[in-house]
Amino acid sequence: RKLVGKLSTGCTEFDEMMGGGIETQSITEMYGEFGSGKTQIAHQLAVNVQLPPEQGGLGGSVIMIDTENTFRPERIAQMVKGISDKHGIEYDPEEFLKNIHVARAFNSNHQILLVDSANELANELKNTEMPVKLLIVDSLTAHFRAEYIGRGTLADRQQKLNKHLHDILRFGDLSNACVVVTNQVMSKPDAFFGDPTKPIGGHILGHTATFRLYIRKSKGEKRIVKLVDSPNLPDGEALISVTTDGLGD
Ligand code: ADP
Ligand code: MG
Repeated sequence: RKLVGKLSTGCTEFDEMMGGGIETQSITEMYGEFGSGKTQIAHQLAVNVQLPPEQGGLGGSVIMIDTENTFRPERIAQMVKGISDKHGIEYDPEEFLKNIHVARAFNSNHQILLVDSANELANELKNTEMPVKLLIVDSLTAHFRAEYIGRGTLADRQQKLNKHLHDILRFGDLSNACVVVTNQVMSKPDAFFGDPTKPIGGHILGHTATFRLYIRKSKGEKRIVKLVDSPNLPDGEALISVTTDGLGD
């Protein structure tokens, strides 16, 4: 087993709650309602991971499996500017964008196949200056949820999702990379999926995801990130803010 790496979120409380940052070789699941900030955090991590370790990064590149077409290069540029101001170093947004390999997933089967492509790309980049150190799947569950509707297909969905999760966990192990996935929960009870406070994929994700983060809105730009049922860290909450410059305290 390789030494676990830690990726800084750029937020003091968030990092402390995670015992230093987002770990490699684990799946970190972010769940929360629409608009809670899951995609914003994913964008920020895609920037931070490229920074050298002295600045909280892992000096690596990113593979982003984008299932909802929510990746925004302009947002990356804003965050790179935010990081530049923070560290007093003039970073080039184009350099950061080059190291974010975005793949659109058109359906759940395609999403599953993209993990194979991710492994191939990680192999190609393994001995370069920017090995892949972060895999993002945003959203992990949206296609599965849309395609598998109704009781009869639930077991089928869970089985596919379970295999997919093991594939991405294996990716994290092989590349010693962070794996961050998002999972939307509903504000109102749902006829098909029941308890709105439990993310779909529920307990299957619970077993495989090592770190589970519940994201919710607070006042204005503030967000509350709650660490739930970690095997080795105390439950806790961290206050972060999402601004034009990106994530911060
Ligand atoms: P989700 O959890 O559904 O993925 P998002 O990560 O897309 O949610 O969060 C969307 C929210 O992020 C917006 O409602 C807004 O509050 C904030 N946000 C998005 N872009 C910016 C920006 N450029 N500057 C400041 N806040 C932003
Ligand atoms: Mg989103």
